[in-house]
Amino acid sequence: MRKKIIAANWKMNMTQAESERFVETFLRDCGEIIDVEVVIVPPFTSIAKVMEALGRAQNIKVGAQNMYWEKSGAFTGEISAALLRDLFVHYVVLGHSERRTLFGETDEMVNRKVRAAHEATLRPIVCIGETLEQRDKGNVEKILSIQLRGSLAGLTPKELQETVIAYEPVWAIGTGRNATPQQAQEAHAFIRKTLREMADDTTAERVRIQYGGSVKPENARELMSQSDIDGALVGGASLDPRSFAQIVKAAREK
Ligand code: PEP
Repeated sequence: MRKKIIAANWKMNMTQAESERFVETFLRDCGEIIDVEVVIVPPFTSIAKVMEALGRAQNIKVGAQNMYWEKSGAFTGEISAALLRDLFVHYVVLGHSERRTLFGETDEMVNRKVRAAHEATLRPIVCIGETLEQRDKGNVEKILSIQLRGSLAGLTPKELQETVIAYEPVWAIGTGRNATPQQAQEAHAFIRKTLREMADDTTAERVRIQYGGSVKPENARELMSQSDIDGALVGGASLDPRSFAQIVKAAREK
């Protein structure tokens, strides 16, 4: 049984004061967090503040939005897996479509980061997804297969099981237009089938696959009730603690 995982990707938003207020309201609204894992992914500058505000809150972890693959050295402006672990960060989002499109990240670069994350016991949340043009041309499976095999190349079954995959159709990110539950389920089932080919049945069954792309309180329950959808990576709606709490609650309901 896979535990659902709901992550809040704050992108380049949220000062320290805003982050602290968010956590207070979210904890109050969300109630007890059982059977679900929650990850808050602030900008680097608010990571310590979020940690502090969470205190000993159970089942809530903190993630980072990116990292570099080198361990240390002259890489001005970059951050390593070890530096994130030093802050007690658990997860790192890698290969988000904004990084791929705006900052030229390739599957090979994502793969180097994924392997460096595992080496430092940081768990990667690896984003993949097709553009609208690729979907219209009937290339969804081809694109997902290339991104998955490229980004996760060389991982052991154990590392794969400790990797979270986020299926995020690019056309659904920040557009208000989510994939239908059926479209998302089809893509997730294909991702699991590919994982089976890359590793084995047990591994494929254990990997958690989140859906991301305009998830809101209104569509979260139906999306997450699909058999291969194991949670959500939430952008816009995660900036409002009440909306995010509702999405977390939706993950608990069958
Ligand atoms: C995201 O940035 O990963 C995302 C899914 O954003 P949104 O929820 O705003 O579409």
